[in-house]
Amino acid sequence: MEKKLRCLIPQEEIATMVRRVAQELDQDYKDRSPVLVGILKGAFVYLADLIRHLKTPIRNIEFIRLSSYGVSTISSGRAVVVTGLPKGTVTGQDVILIEDIVDTGITTTAALRYLRRDKPASLRLCTLLDKPSRRRVPVSIDYVGKTVPEGFVVGYGTDFDQRYRQLPAIYTLRE
Ligand code: 5GP
Ligand code: MG
Repeated sequence: MEKKLRCLIPQEEIATMVRRVAQELDQDYKDRSPVLVGILKGAFVYLADLIRHLKTPIRNIEFIRLSSYGVSTISSGRAVVVTGLPKGTVTGQDVILIEDIVDTGITTTAALRYLRRDKPASLRLCTLLDKPSRRRVPVSIDYVGKTVPEGFVVGYGTDFDQRYRQLPAIYTLRE
């Protein structure tokens, strides 16, 4: 079935958001050299844009991948790390977890728990979008690009059935 896309966040607005978040990170990580950990696949575009606006020297960039049980637009109650990091990768480091969307909070909670086990010096969460309406697990988010209402979005790294990641703006998807 053909889906209809409606622009929710235009490219220029995303660029402004990214620059603002980069400034916030630069202020907070002054004299430090953080490790960025992106959650695959959705966060790869955001992370790639963000790092090119950061003045803070980044110590390392890593990626983890989680899998949630359930189908596409409906998140299930559980997420597991399916591709993690070699032990010691974030130990003693200032870690910033980069996510595309915090929705129910299940994925980021699992990712934060996973990273915490490796004893980082500090751990913060930076998300492109926050969708608080469907939150099931409380998550404290340190950096937010934009808070958005309920509704499924695609583009700028985020997908529906692996499609639309390449779109430079963020769209809502309707049947
Ligand atoms: P959670 O519900 O665990 O907070 O979010 C799980 C994952 O679902 C997120 O990492 C994100 O990739 C995906 N997700 C949540 N809401 C949306 C959405 O509106 N569009 C897309 N494409 N993915 C979403
Ligand atoms: Mg994701």
